[in-house]
Amino acid sequence: MDDVEKLLSHEARVGRTLVRRAIPQRGRRTIGPWCFADHLGPLAVTPDSGLDVAPHPHYGLATVTWLVEGAALHRDSLGSEQVIRPGQVNLMTAGVGVSHSEEAVDDYRGVVEGIQLWIALTGDRRRTPASFVHYRDLPRVDLGSSWATVLLGRWGRDESSLGVGDDLVGTEVVVREASVIPLEPRFEHGVIGLRGRCRIQGVEIGPGESAYLSPGRDELFLESEDALVMVIGGPPLESGIFMWWNFVGEAREDVEEAYRDWLHHSERFGRVSSPLPRLEAPTPWWLTT
Ligand code: MN
Repeated sequence: MDDVEKLLSHEARVGRTLVRRAIPQRGRRTIGPWCFADHLGPLAVTPDSGLDVAPHPHYGLATVTWLVEGAALHRDSLGSEQVIRPGQVNLMTAGVGVSHSEEAVDDYRGVVEGIQLWIALTGDRRRTPASFVHYRDLPRVDLGSSWATVLLGRWGRDESSLGVGDDLVGTEVVVREASVIPLEPRFEHGVIGLRGRCRIQGVEIGPGESAYLSPGRDELFLESEDALVMVIGGPPLESGIFMWWNFVGEAREDVEEAYRDWLHHSERFGRVSSPLPRLEAPTPWWLTT
């Protein structure tokens, strides 16, 4: 069996929020169709500061938002206005284009912590209209003292109602003892550390660290007294993607078109009803001289 590859996240800022970005990174751009994973917080929400990710566009990807603690308000150009809390999933499929904001919830004071993941859309799914769904009823799998919540896709015999038909998995595992979890052998997998320390086939990870596992495994041995990890996976992408800022395309031209459409306030990305001013795109590196 291949070794477990340990990945270190790098720190980045989204708005005023510090995040630990597990992917993309040099040498590991994607894990299955998953192309982006930001662990944000813990962030203290006070009357003067909170989550304030201003309206910005997406194209060619789906965003998956999951909170470990706190609450956040999602608004998008489809007219959605949805508070999300731990145990729930927001799935926004950008398709050809959508824009959204992530804001503090008026009456919430405390800590916000969560993870936002992106799934690269391929083929015709890049050109579908945008959609947004909020799920509060997700399959929970008991593993003795440990347990798992299936956010997306299929996991062992359990399947989330979200993303059925998608060849991928996204699962949160609360590890409270030595536990064996099922893996799909066709998938490559990533285990992202969120809280506590967890040993994965002998490799220890914690917040800001992940483990990468190549395809060919049908189970995984996790060991911890108290840890929270996110398991993501899918078949390795067959075709390359071009990813820049908030866009995922087949080629640079797709992304450049999306950049220009946002720059020129095209109807493609709609409008978000938000008190925050919209985020302007940086100039793509290939257009700077
Ligand atoms: Mn976003």
